[in-house]
Amino acid sequence: MTTLLNTLDAPPRYIPNDPRPSLIGLTRAGLAEAMGLAGVPEKQRRMRAGQVWHWIYHRGVTSFDQMTNIARDLRQRLEDSFVIGRPEIVSEQISSDGTRKWLLRLAPDARGQRHEIETVYIPEEDRGTLCISSQVGCTLTCTFCHTGTQKLVRNLTAGEIVAQVMTARDRVKDWPQDIEANPTPPLGGRYITNVVLMGMGEPLYNFDNVKDAMDIVSDGEGISLSKRRITLSTSGVVPEIPRAGGEIGTMLAISLHATTDEIRDKLVPLNKKYPIADLLAACRQYPGLSNARRITFEYVMLKGVNDSLADAKRLVQLLKGIPAKVNLIPFNPWPGTPYECSDWETIEAFAEVLNRAGYASPVRTPRGRDIMAACGQLKSESQKLRARERLALEAGA
Ligand code: SAH
Ligand code: SF4
Repeated sequence: MTTLLNTLDAPPRYIPNDPRPSLIGLTRAGLAEAMGLAGVPEKQRRMRAGQVWHWIYHRGVTSFDQMTNIARDLRQRLEDSFVIGRPEIVSEQISSDGTRKWLLRLAPDARGQRHEIETVYIPEEDRGTLCISSQVGCTLTCTFCHTGTQKLVRNLTAGEIVAQVMTARDRVKDWPQDIEANPTPPLGGRYITNVVLMGMGEPLYNFDNVKDAMDIVSDGEGISLSKRRITLSTSGVVPEIPRAGGEIGTMLAISLHATTDEIRDKLVPLNKKYPIADLLAACRQYPGLSNARRITFEYVMLKGVNDSLADAKRLVQLLKGIPAKVNLIPFNPWPGTPYECSDWETIEAFAEVLNRAGYASPVRTPRGRDIMAACGQLKSESQKLRARERLALEAGA
């Protein structure tokens, strides 16, 4: 494991107590409005907003100075009023398997608090997946998930969600000009090919910001990641699922994890509100569903809890008629968890039942476990530190 700090090769971009708002996260209409605030006459706002959009999201610039097709005095006015903010990179860790995890410190929120979130990059042979967070912590309390034990929770703004993608692109050198200058460019022309909303938080509890952020990330004149390469994972907020399909339009993943309400009530307490039958009914009606656009069902393998062959068979029955893939996730342990990961043979036998029933069911190789970057291991370092400090204080008292 290697830990690097941002000061290595990135210019400092965060200015403490900077009152200027960031342009990142504004929709196109919002950006045009911002041009108005910087004194651009109404007739020119859309055109200027288009230029600024291109610089920010296509080129990834971090200062107005770099926007060379915009007159110097307007660049100055923009500079006086706004920033193109990036979060502060508190740490960057690189796993022995190449997975990278960033701990990012956000600008102060309305209460002046600076929260931290984690973002993870998982390079594979044919793709590079960025796992981003939608909330600081999570209000849901799935018993096998580390994030669910974090008390502090707030929604991320659209800008904070998009900025995770931008920071990762900065760090892995994934902007078009970086790729052009790269003597050995990646397969397919970019390092970050997919985005999954599988970091901290429940994205459907932060619907509007997630929607704006995904519109920005998929905009063809900017970062340009197609919505088919973006997957939103939900623990099952049933009333928002149809809206997610209609308004956000990304691929969908469902954290199912159990085949009976009795077990799922324990693992994913939200199940008491929206039981399995309701959840699967919403899935059946998900807009745009087809064999080419399947729903991914995530299933964490917990020893002796949900991993029997009877569970596997029930799962096949439950998924009947839904174009689906099943993602078996070996449980990633975290300090203090009561659960254990199923044995390898058990996972294979479970997968075999699914395969025989015609479901692709790859077992997700745990990535980045040595840096606590694997699924469900995310929890802000500072939270852990504070807990540790508290324990130390208690021990000393
Ligand atoms: N809140 C959303 C998205 C973030 S969680 C959701 O629950 O779907 C991303 C995935 O990691 C979910 O499927 C979640 O159930 C799974 N996960 C959580 N804790 C885990 C752990 N300790 N080991 C393996 N997977 C875990
Ligand atoms: Fe929240 Fe998802 Fe973790 Fe459940 S699994 S606590 S919904 S982040």
